[in-house]
Amino acid sequence: CGIVGYIGSNDTKEVLLNGLEKLEYRGYDSAGIATLNDDGLNLFKVKGRIASLREKVDNNVHATMGIGHTRWATHGEPSEENAHPHQSASGRFTLVHNGVIENYYEVRDEYLAGVSLASETDTEIIVQLIEVLNKEYNDVLQAFRKAIALLKGSYAIALIDAEDPDTIYVAKNKSPLLVGLGDNFNVVASDAMATLKVTDRYLELHDKEIVIVKRENVEIQQLDGKAIEREPFTAEIDA
Ligand code: GLU
Repeated sequence: CGIVGYIGSNDTKEVLLNGLEKLEYRGYDSAGIATLNDDGLNLFKVKGRIASLREKVDNNVHATMGIGHTRWATHGEPSEENAHPHQSASGRFTLVHNGVIENYYEVRDEYLAGVSLASETDTEIIVQLIEVLNKEYNDVLQAFRKAIALLKGSYAIALIDAEDPDTIYVAKNKSPLLVGLGDNFNVVASDAMATLKVTDRYLELHDKEIVIVKRENVEIQQLDGKAIEREPFTAEIDA
């Protein structure tokens, strides 16, 4: 299982697909990418390998930001419906996740009573929860923060909002996730190996930090909103 994300000015498809290929060693029963541009969100998912995903992705879709996932199923059989990215009921929020949400039933019963779920995954409750919380707060960052505070278990998460093509929201707990820094672009990856082709400068992330990734900058915050300063490191691996 693995995650990759890109926000910049180039076409995102290749960065995402190349990154996922590099992450296939972590598990690969299904895969998907979501890209966002001025025309909206495009979602491509397959059961199987990245090679099949590559065939399915529409080459006419151009976007400068997106997220991708290779899945190793824990909740719900390997299928196209259960493949990530997962979306909220309105389609506004789209999310990829590695790990296992332990309080999945509790969150569902307490917050998602009126929501009909489209998959059997623990992951879908995260993105549905964010939409429900955003209706309450009318503030995506606040909704994301609150969701992270509520979730128990392991996760590496990347979230995009169809109404904001300038931000990827990121958080982790007990699952690996890094942010890679570029010149007017930034990336997100489970393993630096996925994105070494585009950058060797990375920020380490700590559990339950809230990370706001834009084209020009990356902001790391504590759960309470306090800004955190962190120096990047250089990844010294042969790509
Ligand atoms: N628990 C999630 C699922 O089954 C994520 C699995 C993964 O880490 O790939 O969909």
